[in-house]
Amino acid sequence: MKKIASKISYLACVVMMILAGFISVNAFAGDTKNVPEVFTVNYPLAFFAEKIAGNQAKVVFPEIDGDPAFWNPSAAQIADFQNADLILLNGATYAKWLAKVSLPESRMLDTSANFRNRLIKVHDGKTHSHGPSGEHSHAGTAFTTWLDLTLAVEQAAAIKAKLNLSESGFENLKAELLQLDKAWETEFAQLSGRPLLGSHPVYQYLDRRYGLNLKSVHWEPDVAPDQDMWNELKTLVKKHPAKVMLWEGEPLAETKALLTEMGIKSIVFDPCGNRPEKGDFLSTMNQNLQNLKMIQD
Ligand SMILES: [Zn+2]
Repeated sequence: MKKIASKISYLACVVMMILAGFISVNAFAGDTKNVPEVFTVNYPLAFFAEKIAGNQAKVVFPEIDGDPAFWNPSAAQIADFQNADLILLNGATYAKWLAKVSLPESRMLDTSANFRNRLIKVHDGKTHSHGPSGEHSHAGTAFTTWLDLTLAVEQAAAIKAKLNLSESGFENLKAELLQLDKAWETEFAQLSGRPLLGSHPVYQYLDRRYGLNLKSVHWEPDVAPDQDMWNELKTLVKKHPAKVMLWEGEPLAETKALLTEMGIKSIVFDPCGNRPEKGDFLSTMNQNLQNLKMIQD
């Protein structure tokens, strides 16, 4: 009997500790509840939202290994999105996982909806890549919208309109993006008409905005192209004699050396869809500008 009583008091003690834990968690949640939780499907949108909202929103972009466009979230990660106050989407068929899950319609914002009629259709049949995270395709709609920095401004404007916050955060961001847009325009004008290569089909909006003459293969920086891929490139450069290839990240040394032998210079132009290891969206885009300047050397 005494044993049971001590067990009951032990259980009561545990229950009280759990309750106390809940109360303190709730108290903490209560402190931050008036700040909306904003989830985003890629890093550029998170960067824009942070700049626009400052400390008036908690912006969450989950840690993702690989390209967020082809991410496969876990059930718990999907639940986090479902519980968000606002979910920022890139639109343009970005984040393929969205087609497979159910998210609250009323709390989603498609940041490219206002320029839906300017999205680029992909007609290229050769869209499969065998990267470290498996095969994927770019068929349908091109999605790297923000590499046209004027479209990036429109996406930021959509976020600003939805969050309904003061203008200053947005205006500063817009000024920085447009300044960079002009700098890219000037730099790309020097390449006007020169054939360029993209190592991956992610540069469609860049190509259109800055008047490039760019054709892409479907390679990954960290995967050595196989013989078929080299043959495809050799066929391509016969009718599109490019001397420069843009890469999402630093390519393998051997790939770079073989391209150099073909007279093709490798330049990193990082779309920055995922959070960079160092710096932020603007510093990465500025680095892209610096890398472009090396083409002229
Ligand atoms: Zn791809």
